[in-house]
Amino acid sequence: MKHRSAKLGVALVGLGKYSTNQLAPALQETVHCHLAGIVTGEPGKAEAWRDKYDIPQRNIYDYENFDTILDNPAIDIVYVVLPNSMHASFTIRAAKAKKHVICEKPMAITVDECNSMINACVENNVKLSIGYRLHFDPYHLEIMRLGQEDVLGTVINMKSEHGMKDPGGFRLNSVLAGGGPLMDLGIYCVQAAQYVTGRAPISVWAQEGPKTKPEKFLGMEQSIQWIMEFPNDIRADCRASYDEDLDSFRAETQRGWFELQPAFEYGGLIGKSSAGKIVFTPVNQQAKQMDDFALAIRENRPTPVPGEMGRRDVEILQAIYTSMKSGQRVLL
Ligand code: NDP
Repeated sequence: MKHRSAKLGVALVGLGKYSTNQLAPALQETVHCHLAGIVTGEPGKAEAWRDKYDIPQRNIYDYENFDTILDNPAIDIVYVVLPNSMHASFTIRAAKAKKHVICEKPMAITVDECNSMINACVENNVKLSIGYRLHFDPYHLEIMRLGQEDVLGTVINMKSEHGMKDPGGFRLNSVLAGGGPLMDLGIYCVQAAQYVTGRAPISVWAQEGPKTKPEKFLGMEQSIQWIMEFPNDIRADCRASYDEDLDSFRAETQRGWFELQPAFEYGGLIGKSSAGKIVFTPVNQQAKQMDDFALAIRENRPTPVPGEMGRRDVEILQAIYTSMKSGQRVLL
């Protein structure tokens, strides 16, 4: 049993761009958890990280011996930062090793996988959260408040776009990614529309964008636009693309509007509303997110970004793809 004041140990699984550039640096700022271990398929990375972050050799794993992490009391939390199609198996293995789990977005490729992940965590009595960092950012907490508390009147409609030019790596492999820009970037629009209204959508309607580079975007959309319909005729018009840099959220309300642009970055968010500028001191989103999960474990309270939320979003993403293929509106 750890001393109550001891920081919980986090092991990052998959030392790609997000682990390297965001999560490991954030874990140098966290107050309630720290970088205790790593899981990687690259011996060269293991060595470099061991030296850079002073990680004991006994806390370094590869994908084969990962399950022996069960015997390591220095690791409390496993953070799965692998390509999307690997999220389910590593979350389940981590749960069986009795570790609490943070799994990156999108939670998995299918709703069935999400259910298995949630069940594995329940059966092994560990907590599960999704890497939804924006729930810990003051700009996003503010648009949640403006929307959910009808501060400028009820939200009438929303528009949100997220795109990136020239993605690479696993994102261009439809098997590893489970789809295209919708899975990777559109999920932020799906999230925002829900946390601004405090509601889940009742239907979706989607259309694939023009495919000018079929050789590059094999088995996935190059861009996609979709509508999410909420109760009371509230709707969100959204777009995700791998061919354009897009990053915005805007809500029209009965008495005004509010927006973030850029909306989904790690920092540098700019907020405005019909009542004036939205200004907050920026935070390290990832540090806040991981600290909150560590506290949720310590205080044995729910996380605001649980597996059930990840599953709901995967269900919506899958419905959007079903609609894109059929051309029909899909009820949720
Ligand atoms: P990268 O491609 O940069 O890294 C993925 C890492 O996974 C690799 O470096 C590798 O680590 C490991 N890996 C294991 N098997 C494979 C395989 N077959 N192919 C490729 N990589 C493999 O991806 P990102 O770091 O950008 O993304 C990882 C996850 O994090 C994704 O789910 C993504 O959606 C999510 N993400 C979330 C963000 C957020 O803001 N919440 C931002 C960016 C990403 P190693 O060499 O150590 O074995």
